[in-house]
Amino acid sequence: MKSIDSQSVYRKPYGLSCHGDALPWPSHFLLPATMHCPFCGANDTKVIDSRLVAEGEQVRRRRECLACGERFTTFETAELVLPRLIKTDGSRQPFDEEKLRAGMQRALEKRPVSVERLESSLVHIKHKLRATGEREVKSLVVGELVMAELKKLDEVAYIRFASVYRRFQDLNEFREEIDRLAREPVKE
Ligand SMILES: [Zn+2]
Repeated sequence: MKSIDSQSVYRKPYGLSCHGDALPWPSHFLLPATMHCPFCGANDTKVIDSRLVAEGEQVRRRRECLACGERFTTFETAELVLPRLIKTDGSRQPFDEEKLRAGMQRALEKRPVSVERLESSLVHIKHKLRATGEREVKSLVVGELVMAELKKLDEVAYIRFASVYRRFQDLNEFREEIDRLAREPVKE
């Protein structure tokens, strides 16, 4: 067997014909061995199409398995995972961008704010959530981030959101205060 530059030649360990070790595709398509074919488990896959989706936050890759020929799609967002949200009752929920967008749109209804500005606010919020480096954050953190963004976008929308949000918050704070007082020993 002749010596091969492992940087530029993709080896096929599954006994397939390699056409004299010639590469039928450019070497930048070489993939880490961890990308297994979901059909046969082989790690010989080639990227046949690659594009940014979800406002540039995901890479969608169309791959083809070189062992069995099946094609599949991967969405790669690993480093962009958002923390889960801890609700006031202690339950955990995945971050829901659609819900967040809908809430902000409701506050921005009939206000002179473009879709682009709303989207860039959402990007800021997600960026700040990722920047926490936490796997879980209190949902209150998101509420505060939304208020900060709305304040920059439109005062009316900010007041609309804040009035609903604060009322809800106060209810919880009120309940917590009652609980706290109930636990406290009675003073003379
Ligand atoms: Zn396969």
